[in-house]
Amino acid sequence: MTGTSDPSGEDAGCDARLPPLSAVIARHELHPKRALGQHFLLDPSLCERIARTAQPGASAVNLEVGPGPGGLTRALLAAGAARVVAVEKDRRCVAALSELQARYPDRLEIVEGDALSFDIATLRPARIGIVANLPYNVGTRLLLRWLEQVERIESMTLMFQKEVAARITAAGGRDYGGLSVRAQWLCTCERLFDVGPRAFVPPPGVISTVVRLVPRAAPLAPAEPDALDAVTRAAFGQRRKMLRRALRTLTPDPLALLQSAGISPEARAETLSVTEFCALARAWAAMRHT
Ligand code: SAM
Repeated sequence: MTGTSDPSGEDAGCDARLPPLSAVIARHELHPKRALGQHFLLDPSLCERIARTAQPGASAVNLEVGPGPGGLTRALLAAGAARVVAVEKDRRCVAALSELQARYPDRLEIVEGDALSFDIATLRPARIGIVANLPYNVGTRLLLRWLEQVERIESMTLMFQKEVAARITAAGGRDYGGLSVRAQWLCTCERLFDVGPRAFVPPPGVISTVVRLVPRAAPLAPAEPDALDAVTRAAFGQRRKMLRRALRTLTPDPLALLQSAGISPEARAETLSVTEFCALARAWAAMRHT
């Protein structure tokens, strides 16, 4: 399903007391910077849809990465977020968000900085919701970083480039890879809806997709993260080859490894479930220790 949002509908806003986003953008001269992946969502109904999906009222703190002029931030606050911490790298946007901050002094905190260096462990209380229309150039890196601290996260509602969303949620086939295994090992991952380029100002050259990741109470199966990374890297490094060949980069005896994991030597990476990858990771870790 592709959003048919018209950016010109933005003047409604979530809160009539706030200036329209187009006025905020004009007043602060927020000419979009390509290097910062700036494609702004001005359509309030789309921002509201993302905010509703994120259920910000369920988390004591919501982290938003890259609020830009604040369309999604407004929607999160209107949808009942008790507290939003918004991390923005562009100083111009930080200044542009001051009116919103003044309107919600106790519920909105703007942090100027790079989300890649923002440690979610500094947020209290300890478990948070993360919501973002992510800058595409750092989206995957941010997700992998958050997955390392998944116990601190209640949910993630994130907009990615459609192809990245497909890689996160794939359960086999051409999009399935290390990112799918890592994300699905730790979270349930659901692709929710597409958003077409025309919903953004300026329109990007790609379709976007909103994905919701909810951390599991425990990982899908036991495995050491490093071992899981090693086996997925080797297996997907030669994804069209049978595992008995692909895993030669990992061990001189792939057959013994596969046998101890209970996996057919003729299987290919693209057909292995996340649980089977975990079995492979455990077998490899055991093999290394003997
Ligand atoms: N959330 C806004 C919206 O939906 O209209 C803006 C989304 S825009 C795709 C990405 C935003 O992330 C921009 O405001 C950009 O300045 C900001 N950004 C880019 N790289 C960043 C980084 N490393 N850390 C924090 N913010 C970043």
